[in-house]
Amino acid sequence: MNTRVVDVLVPVALDTAYSYRVPAGLELAPGDLVAVPLGARETLGVVWAENPNPNPRLHNRLKDIDEKLDVPPLKPELRQFVDWVSGYTLAARGMVLRMALRMGEHLGPARERIGVRLAGPPPQRMTVARARVLALFRDGLTRAKGDAAREAGVSAGVIDGLIDEGTLETLVLPPEKVARTPDPDFAKPDFALGQLAAADALRTTVDQGGYSVTLLDGVTGSGKTEVYFEAVAENIRRGHQTLILMPEIALTAQFLDRFSARFGVRPAEWHSQLSPRTRQRTWGAVAGNEVPVIVGARSALFLPYADLGLVIVDEEHDPAYKQEDGAHYHARDMAVVRGSIAKFPVVLASATPSVESEVNARRGRYRHLHLPERFGGAHLPQVEAIDMRREGPPRGRFIAPRLAEAVQITLERGEQALLFLNRRGYAPLTLCRACGFRLQCPNCDAWLVDHRFRKRLVCHHCGFSMPPPVECPNCHATESFAAVGPGVERLEQEAAELFPQARILVLSSDLIESVERLRSELDDVAQGRFDLVIGTQLVAKGHHFPKLNLVGIVDADLGLGNGDPRAAERTFQLLHQVVGRAGREEGRGVGYLQTHQPEHPVMRALISGDREAFYKNEIEQRERTGYPPFGRLASLVISANERHGAEAYGRSLVSHAPKDEQVRILGPAEAPIAVVRGRHRFRILVKAPRAFDLSTFLRDWLARAPKPKGNVQLAVDVDPMSFL
Ligand code: ADP
Ligand code: ZN
Repeated sequence: MNTRVVDVLVPVALDTAYSYRVPAGLELAPGDLVAVPLGARETLGVVWAENPNPNPRLHNRLKDIDEKLDVPPLKPELRQFVDWVSGYTLAARGMVLRMALRMGEHLGPARERIGVRLAGPPPQRMTVARARVLALFRDGLTRAKGDAAREAGVSAGVIDGLIDEGTLETLVLPPEKVARTPDPDFAKPDFALGQLAAADALRTTVDQGGYSVTLLDGVTGSGKTEVYFEAVAENIRRGHQTLILMPEIALTAQFLDRFSARFGVRPAEWHSQLSPRTRQRTWGAVAGNEVPVIVGARSALFLPYADLGLVIVDEEHDPAYKQEDGAHYHARDMAVVRGSIAKFPVVLASATPSVESEVNARRGRYRHLHLPERFGGAHLPQVEAIDMRREGPPRGRFIAPRLAEAVQITLERGEQALLFLNRRGYAPLTLCRACGFRLQCPNCDAWLVDHRFRKRLVCHHCGFSMPPPVECPNCHATESFAAVGPGVERLEQEAAELFPQARILVLSSDLIESVERLRSELDDVAQGRFDLVIGTQLVAKGHHFPKLNLVGIVDADLGLGNGDPRAAERTFQLLHQVVGRAGREEGRGVGYLQTHQPEHPVMRALISGDREAFYKNEIEQRERTGYPPFGRLASLVISANERHGAEAYGRSLVSHAPKDEQVRILGPAEAPIAVVRGRHRFRILVKAPRAFDLSTFLRDWLARAPKPKGNVQLAVDVDPMSFL
């Protein structure tokens, strides 16, 4: 008898699918989830393909599939997507598949929900509490037990008593739905003239279906969200699923509220902080087509949608879309790929589009929708530079007199101000005044950052921390340490002295205890319970603070000039976004940039409000130097326990590179942060023309080069965003 053989991909660091025998009588098709033996254990896997001609010599050694799981199969479009992402990024196919299978398996059956309803005559003994319950149930409805007690305002014991008496009866309720269906017509806005055209265009795009990419580009507060909600509404009407990608899902409470104000219900959520049970239920509901709209972080791209018809990438320029560990992929780019495979529209939204998307729109590869002004005629903030070379603060201080005065006036008016500094902790460097010794991380090539709120010195690269030492480890002087440079905690100290009456809140990711706490603090700011916010980039994103009218950028130069080809772009995007927090309600916002280089193109573009000038300059420069999107880059990062090992492997890699005159290979060079977690790092940068197939080149290269041995590791990053 002929045995059937299939190839099964398992979610581990392997590229190839393994062959297994299909036991007689088991119905299997590509996409099915199965349990298979792998070495000594059993693992989850996905039937990737039929294997019509298995190697007969291996035949007897093949193992059997254990069982088929009772979940919907992965659709061909998702399997194709996994193959594509793996082919492009060089991440093992199994590792990419793993992202699609993060559903929290083996949790056992879901907890039953018990409902109660009226069944028999009133109880013998009547009490006030019992009467309340009876009144509640007079409508004949079934309620979950907990809900009944809460609605009637009685303890659970009262309900139990009535069940014992036979007045109420229990029954098992169907599991609660992960998401209810949004109503596309729940609260449609009246669009302003400038918005109307964009909303119509998006509606038509979704209505026509098929693959397309649209860049929705509009200044902060121009109504991008309202406008792309029209695309979402149309997709709901057509019965397809929508994914809205967000860079920082934990911070989107305001977004969820807005969604429910527009559509009447909250969307489902997908991010790393979901409980395992919610994760499992959501995964299943997405696969079972019970989730019409999901708002998610980048990993939501790999969910097994039954019928995905639209992806919106909000804040498409955000660097958080790039995953830097495991599989290195850019969620915005992969969203476009997913759209092209499954043939549906993709919408990229931003007030400061990435140079990549901007160029694609200018060259006609993407449709371009533009919202030129803030909704309701509010003006964009007026931005001024404070030249730190001429009007900087006194030594050891960081708020220039002109900025301090502006904050004072804002506070006196009863409005809010934000001081932005993208640096956590108290000071980035601690130095011994007696001998000049700098406190450094024992594992990394980095200074220890003083975190005074927590009374620790912390390494921002590996997490090492220690209490501040009593004496200098080098010269043993005591009380000789000086803090150099500011972090948000130090800024708070200065602000508290300058503005003693102000209610100050410091927002920084290391001070966040939980997502709920952060959401409530952001809400406190929105409600006006603080006067002055001092924050890192955590405050830059998407929040709407009606009373905030002044933004001071304490060190506008911070992100520039670190050897990163995207430094100018990132600084422009980040500062534009932060300054855009000001004056969203009344349009009297003001921004101040403390800078040592007011002539820098980024500062000039921010001050003049001339976005166009920035893009023109930046695009010209990228074109001239062959940087993305006019050329392609990949990094190979080598790390090892010894410097020598890392460098030697890097050299050997380079010596095995295929000869191709279109490709330039730079390095190996010691990485800017040469040691992280005790591992020495070297980088090789590969540069190629735009149309060059870099992934194939890299795969050929790595196939002919020796594999890293011992403690040496190699990470491949196609389209790198980080150069540290
Ligand atoms: P963006 O996403 O471009 O920053 P939003 O969509 O958040 O802009 O809009 C900014 C503010 O203006 C929000 O409070 C939004 O509700 C409001 N808004 C925008 N367009 C309209 C409209 N057509 N009708 C009513 N309110 C609108
Ligand atoms: Zn460290």
